[in-house]
Amino acid sequence: MNTFHLSGYPRVGAKRELKFAVEAFWKGNKTEQELREVAADIRKKNWATQIAAGADLLPVGDFSFYDHVLDTLCALGAIPARFGFDAAHLTLPQYFELARGNATQVAMEMTKWFDTNYHYIVPEWHQNTTFKANSQNLIAQIKEAQALGHDIKPTLLGPITLLWLGKEKDVGHNRLELLSKLLPEYQKLLRELANAGVDWIQIDEPILAVDAEKEWLDAFAPTYKELAITGTRIILGTYFASVAEHVSLLKNLPVHGIHIDCVRAPEQLAVFTDTWPENKVLSVGLIDGRNVWRANLSEVIDTLAPISEKLGNNLWIAPSCSLLHSPQDLGVEEKLNSEIKTWLAFAAQKLVELGVIKQALAHGKDAVKDALTASDAAAADRKTSKLIHNDAVAQRLAALRPNADQRKSPFAQRIEAQLAWMNLPLLPTTTIGSFPQTQEIRQARAAFKKGELSAADYETAMKKEIAHCVDIQEKLEIDVPVHGEAERNDMVEYFGEQLDGYCFTQFGWVQSYGSRCVKPPIIFGDVTRPNAMTVAWSSYAQTLTKRPMKGMLTGPVTMMKWSFVRNDVPLSLVCKQIALALNDEVLDLEKAGIRVIQIDEPAIREAMPLKRAQWDEYLKWACESFRLTSSDAEDTTQIHTHMCYSEFNDILPAIASMDADVITIETSRSDMELLDAFVKFQYPNDIGPGVYDIHSPRVPTEAEVEHLLRKALDVIPARRLWVNPDCGLKTRAWPETIAALEVMMTVTKKLRQELDA
Ligand code: GLN
Ligand code: ZN
Repeated sequence: MNTFHLSGYPRVGAKRELKFAVEAFWKGNKTEQELREVAADIRKKNWATQIAAGADLLPVGDFSFYDHVLDTLCALGAIPARFGFDAAHLTLPQYFELARGNATQVAMEMTKWFDTNYHYIVPEWHQNTTFKANSQNLIAQIKEAQALGHDIKPTLLGPITLLWLGKEKDVGHNRLELLSKLLPEYQKLLRELANAGVDWIQIDEPILAVDAEKEWLDAFAPTYKELAITGTRIILGTYFASVAEHVSLLKNLPVHGIHIDCVRAPEQLAVFTDTWPENKVLSVGLIDGRNVWRANLSEVIDTLAPISEKLGNNLWIAPSCSLLHSPQDLGVEEKLNSEIKTWLAFAAQKLVELGVIKQALAHGKDAVKDALTASDAAAADRKTSKLIHNDAVAQRLAALRPNADQRKSPFAQRIEAQLAWMNLPLLPTTTIGSFPQTQEIRQARAAFKKGELSAADYETAMKKEIAHCVDIQEKLEIDVPVHGEAERNDMVEYFGEQLDGYCFTQFGWVQSYGSRCVKPPIIFGDVTRPNAMTVAWSSYAQTLTKRPMKGMLTGPVTMMKWSFVRNDVPLSLVCKQIALALNDEVLDLEKAGIRVIQIDEPAIREAMPLKRAQWDEYLKWACESFRLTSSDAEDTTQIHTHMCYSEFNDILPAIASMDADVITIETSRSDMELLDAFVKFQYPNDIGPGVYDIHSPRVPTEAEVEHLLRKALDVIPARRLWVNPDCGLKTRAWPETIAALEVMMTVTKKLRQELDA
C-alpha cells in the first residue's frame, strides 16, 4: 500500500478554540494548565480525524502555541540572548514574551512565510549564537500521539532553511557559518527522537523552492550526510514551487525520501518520476494544501497509478504542503450556497480525499466508486455552472479598446490638468484612508449584521463617524481628506461582499500569526459589480468639505491575493475581471464628483511568484490589471495608489509602469532608505513617502518627522512630494491619531514656508 501522510494540520481548532484559550491566558482568565488542556484536546481531535481518514503516519510537531519556527528555535536552544531566558527551562509565559515582547525587550520580528499569509518569527542570528538541543516539548507530544497506538512522523524545520529564514544581527556575519554549530544539536535532537521510538521524521527544507544562492545549496550534501548518521529515516519536505532544478542533488542526498508539491508545480512530477531511484520514497502532493477546492479525484488517481506501478510502496501520497494554510472543516459551514459547497474541500475533506486515493491505488477505482462518482459530478458541475460562468464578462474582456490599460494622456499632461483644479499647496498632505475603527463602529457593524440595527440606523451611525472624521481633517487642514473607511471591516471583505463571484465562509479561518486568524473570501466565479460600492459614502463625505475628497478602493491584485482564488482559470484572468469591476466603480465615483481616487495595492509585492524567472510574467499582468482599473478616468482625475511593508527596491520599474499619478508608500521605519531606490530609478510621478510609522501608539516628535521630510526633500523635487503617514490609521485610537497628524501638519507648514521664501 502507498503510505498516506501529512506534514501538518490546522492547529487553531475548527472554531478557533486555541485562539480564544491563548488570549484568555494572556489576559489571566485561563491558567496554563487550562490552556494546555485545550491544546492537547485540539491535537487529539486532529489526530483522530487523520486516523479516521486513513492516514498512515500522524504528524507531530505541527502544533504550536504561536509559531512553528519559534518552536524550532526553542527545540534547538537558539532563542535571543537579549531576553536573558534560560533556554533549557523556558516557561510558556517566556515563550510568549519572545513572540510578543515584554517590558524591556521588543518582540522578535515576524514576517511572511514564503508566499503565504502566515507570519513566522524571524530567528536572530549572532556570531556567538549557541545551540542546545531540547527535545522535551516535542517528545511530550510524540508520547501523546503514540498513546493512540498509531504510527507517527514528526515534522521539523530543516537546519538550512532555519538559518536562511533568520536575520544576521552582527555586521559582516554570514549566518550560514552557524551551520557547523547547529548540526551537532540537530543530530542530538534526532537521536533523542529515535530513542523515543521515532522511525520516520520529515525535515522540511522549503528553501529548495526559492532561488537560494549557491552556497546555501552546496550546504545540502554535507548537512544531510551528518544527519543521516543518526539512523532516523528522513523524508525531506519541499513545497510551494518546483524543486526540479535540484533533482540530481535530491536523488543523491542520503535521505530516505523526498516530498514534492505537484499542485504548485505539476510539471516537476515527470522530472522526478522519470529517474527516481526505486529504493527511495517519492511523496507526491497532488491535493492542494493551500486552497479550498475539491480535487478531481479521477484525474489524480490516473496520474498516480502508473507511478505507483513503477515505485510500488515507495510512492507516498500527501497534501501538497502542510494543511496549516487551509481552513479546517467544511462540515461546520451552514450558510454556504449548497452548489458551491460541493466544489470545496477544507483540511478535513482533503484528508478524506487522500484516503480515497490510497484505496483506489491499492484496490482499483471500483473500490471507491461512490467517492469518484461524487467527485466527477462536482468537477463536471463546476465546469458548466451558471454560478461561475458569465458570458458578459468574457465578452467585455474580448471587446476592450486597443490600449485599454492606458490613460488618455501621459502623466506630465495629466498632472497639469489636476493641479489646475485641485488648488494644492506645496507638499500636499493626505492620509492612507482608514481612521480609527472605534469600539462603537465595530459594535454598530456587528449589530447591523445580526439584524439588531436597521439599515437606516446603521447608515446614520456610519455617517456620523464620517462627519466626525472629515471635521477633524478640516481642522487639521489636511489638503486631500478621506472619509475614513468606518463602514469597512476589512479592505478585501468589504468589496468582496458587494461583488458577484465572491462568497464567504463562517468558520474558514486560517492562522495569520500567533492567535490572529484571517478568513479569506472565496473567489469562485466570474467577477462582476452589480452596483456601486463606495459612491454613496464618498459622495456624502464630499458634501462636508470643499477640499477634494479622496475615494478609496482596494486594487485587483490585493483583492485576489487576500482571497482563496478559483483554480479553473489563470490568476491573470481573475485579476483582470476584478480590475474591470473596479473600473466601473472609478467611473461612477468620477460621475459623482469624486476626482481623487486611491486604489490600494499593498499586496502587489507578496503576490510575486517565489521564482524570479516568473516575476516578469506576473508583473506584466498585475500592473496591467491595476492600470485597467483607472485607464478610463479623465486626465483631471487624480489616481493614487498605496503600498506598504514590503521590499519594493527590486520592482520599481513595474511600480512606475502602474502609472498612478501619486504613490503613497511606507518608508519611515527604514529611515527613508527606500527613497534612494526611487531616486536612482528616477521614479517619474508624485510620491508620498510615509513620514511616521502607524504601527505604534507613540506620537512622533516634530524633529523626527522633520528629519524624514527633509531627507525626502533632498532627493525628491518639492513639487512632486506629498506628506502622509505610512499606512492606514484603523488600528490606532483617536487621541494619538490627532496628535500625530498635528505634528505632521506643523512640520509640513514650517517646511512650506521655507520653500516659499
Ligand atoms: N486604505 C487602507 C487603509 O487605510 C490601506 C490599508 C493597507 O495598506 N493595508 O486602511
Ligand atoms: Zn498600507
